[in-house]
Amino acid sequence: MIPYGRQSISEEDIEAVSVALRGDLLTTGPLVEHFESALEAIVGAPTVSVSSGTAALHCAYAAIELQPGDEVITPPMTFIATQATAAMFGAKIVFADIQSDTGNIDPAAVEAVITSRTKAIVAVDYAGHPAELSELRAIADKNRIFLIEDAAHSIGSRYRGRPVGSIADLTTFSFFPTKNMTTAEGGAVASIHPDLLLKARRFSRQGLIRNQKEFKILNQGIWHQEVHKFGLNYRLPDVLAALGVSQLKRIQEFKKYRERIFDQYSEVLRFNSDIKIPIFRDYTDPMWHLYAIHVPSKAREKIFNGLRRAGIGAQVNYIPAYWHPVFQDLGYKKGAYPVSDAFYQSEISIPMHTGVTSEDVLQISQILESLTGEI
Ligand SMILES: *Cc1c(COP(=O)(O)O)cnc(C)c1O
Repeated sequence: MIPYGRQSISEEDIEAVSVALRGDLLTTGPLVEHFESALEAIVGAPTVSVSSGTAALHCAYAAIELQPGDEVITPPMTFIATQATAAMFGAKIVFADIQSDTGNIDPAAVEAVITSRTKAIVAVDYAGHPAELSELRAIADKNRIFLIEDAAHSIGSRYRGRPVGSIADLTTFSFFPTKNMTTAEGGAVASIHPDLLLKARRFSRQGLIRNQKEFKILNQGIWHQEVHKFGLNYRLPDVLAALGVSQLKRIQEFKKYRERIFDQYSEVLRFNSDIKIPIFRDYTDPMWHLYAIHVPSKAREKIFNGLRRAGIGAQVNYIPAYWHPVFQDLGYKKGAYPVSDAFYQSEISIPMHTGVTSEDVLQISQILESLTGEI
C-alpha cells in the first residue's frame, strides 16, 4: 500500500534522537529552544513548540483569551481540531463557506457572518495552499478582530513572498507524521505579536510565571514560581525537538520533492477530463501537503475503492466539519455550506510525500485513467 502521506526519516534524524536520549534532559532542556529558533527561521516569526497541532490551536485560542459566547469564524473544510479547541472555551463556532478551487475559506463568506461578537477569523491552508491572507487580514483589521491561521498543512509555504507564520496574528503548525515534516507528535504556535506568543507559551506550560517582576506573591525564595491563569502541559519533549531540528534541515528538500510530485501528477492527470486537478494562485508558493483531485461525485466512492484495491492509500480530506454529529446535535443544518459539501463529495487525496516516486505517479495516474474510464 502506498499511503497518502508518510514521514521521511533519515539516519541523521535517528542519530539526533539517539543523542537526545543519551543526554541529561529528555524534556524541558536546551533542544526545545533550539527547535523553536530553527522554526522561527523558516516561518518568519517567533514560535513556541507544543505537543500537537491540536494543542497549538488550543494555545492560540487561549492567547486571544477566547470566552464563552465569543464567535469564531472557521471553514467547514478542515480537520475538526480547528473547531474543537475553540469550542472547549465555550466559543460559538460560525462557519463560512470555501472557495471551490482552493478549498480555502472565502473572504466574502467571512464578511457576511461577522457580528459584534466575532473574536477571530480562522483560516486553514487547505492542502498547503495559503488562504486569501491579504483579504482576511483587511477584514480582521477593519473589525478589530484576530486572524488565526491553521497552517497544519502549510509549513514552508509562502504567500506574496512571505512565509506562512509571519502574516496572521497567530499561526499554528502540526508535526504529525503525515504532515510536511514531523516530530512524531508535535506542533507549534508562531506569532508576530510577543504578547500573544507569551500567552500561548504560558498556557502550554501550566500557566507558570517565573519572571520576578510579575510576581504577586512577594518575599519568597528563588524557588518561587506562581500561576495567574490556568494552563495545561503541552510541552514538546527534547527527544522530539531533536527530531524537529534534524527534519527542519531538510525542509527545503521536502518542499522541492513535493513540488516535483505535484507537477508530475498535474502533467499527466490534466489530460483526464473526468479529473479536476488542483490549482494555485500565482501569488502563492505552496508546500504541498495533499494532492487533492476532484472526480464526478457519483463515481467518487467507486474510484476511491478502486484505488484502495490497487494498493493506493487514497484518503478523503475532509468531511465538512459541521456534518459531525457533535455539530448536528447543536442544530447546525446539513446543506448550509454547499461549496464545502460539493468539494467533499468529489474529493480524493492521492499519495503526496517524499516516498512517492515518478514511477508511482505514473502507475497511480494509469489506475485513475482506467477507473474513470469505467464511469
Ligand atoms: C492535522 C491537523 C490538525 C491537528 O494536528 P495534530 O498534530 O494531529 O493534533 C489541525 N488542523 C488541521 C487542518 C490538520 O490537518
